[in-house]
Amino acid sequence: PLILGIESTCDETGAALVRGTELLADVVASSMDEHARFGGIVPEVASRAHLEAFVPTVEEALNRAGASLADVDGIAVASGPGLVGSLTVGVSAAKALALALGKPLYGVNHVIGHAAVDELVHGPMPERTMALVVSGGHTSLLLVNDIATDVVELGHTLDDAAGEAFDKVGRLLNLPYPGGPHVDRLAREGDPEAIPFPRALTSAKAMQKHAYDFSFSGLKTAVARWIEAREEAGQEIPVADVAASFAAAVAEVLVDKTIAACRAHDVDTLVIGGGFSANSQLRELATERCAQAGIDVRIPPIRYCTDNGAMIAALGSAVARRGVAPSLLDIGVDSSMPLSTITV
Ligand code: ATP
Ligand code: MG
Ligand code: FE
Repeated sequence: PLILGIESTCDETGAALVRGTELLADVVASSMDEHARFGGIVPEVASRAHLEAFVPTVEEALNRAGASLADVDGIAVASGPGLVGSLTVGVSAAKALALALGKPLYGVNHVIGHAAVDELVHGPMPERTMALVVSGGHTSLLLVNDIATDVVELGHTLDDAAGEAFDKVGRLLNLPYPGGPHVDRLAREGDPEAIPFPRALTSAKAMQKHAYDFSFSGLKTAVARWIEAREEAGQEIPVADVAASFAAAVAEVLVDKTIAACRAHDVDTLVIGGGFSANSQLRELATERCAQAGIDVRIPPIRYCTDNGAMIAALGSAVARRGVAPSLLDIGVDSSMPLSTITV
């Protein structure tokens, strides 16, 4: 079946067409430029941008796939988690399309889509795959028993997401918003062992309760304190060393806990998704440590890791293939959809 996937959880309007695990078209419009001057996403601005971008984005995806709406066999839409206003635009539009075309609607979980998209790149996921989803809004470790029917969240961040922590450290270092990619670039020029920043939730005591949970806000505060102390002493800030030491602390905790989870659950395939998987410190460390541990690590190209319609179409396609019942046309949006929910 040909699945149209629609994404509108945050600032990207995405539409994509997938058949099986084959991606036929993927079009993304982003309103990030409109938010940059505010130093963060403005929900009202994002919702309005989705309204304006929706029809042209879907039309462009159909054009590129050489398909028309009549060819579409099902519509998948991210119905959570995300910003309520943004979600409402995509879900309302998807419901209208499903009703008008008389085709099934699948409301799916955006975060699980970040893992599902890998099927378009590396083929169907083996039964029991670990997925680390890391972005500006999410940091979650998922045991994927079956991407369409059975996902267990093993852990998540207790405060900031990894990308969010990078953006905050970017601000501390006076880098442009979003700071993540800038901190990454600076970090490549610094010494990751220069400053011993804390590795949160890794003590024996913390591991009892939070073996697979993360925390990055204390790390960000440690960076802020370290910079303040230097400034007060009138010393120069070695920005590259700060960035490198901070990035190493984030990557190490993410990779160590993920590999420990793979071992504990006897899983030998790892998918890393979400916009933060662009981070070079994470990519390098994960590649190195997974090779040592005999884990096959799959990271989709960056354009599939940031928010897009392909990830939603990929999950919708998996769900439709497995014969999961479609969603009712009265579904709402769920801004804090739990990760045990794959479809609504
Ligand atoms: P979501 O709703 O899925 O959380 P998002 O828009 O917040 O979406 P993404 O677009 O998936 O997140 O990812 C963007 C985040 O990743 C930002 O916080 C950005 O700074 C961070 N990021 C992107 N590239 C890098 C990089 N190379 N190094 C570090 N952080 C990065
Ligand atoms: Mg985004
Ligand atoms: Fe996302």
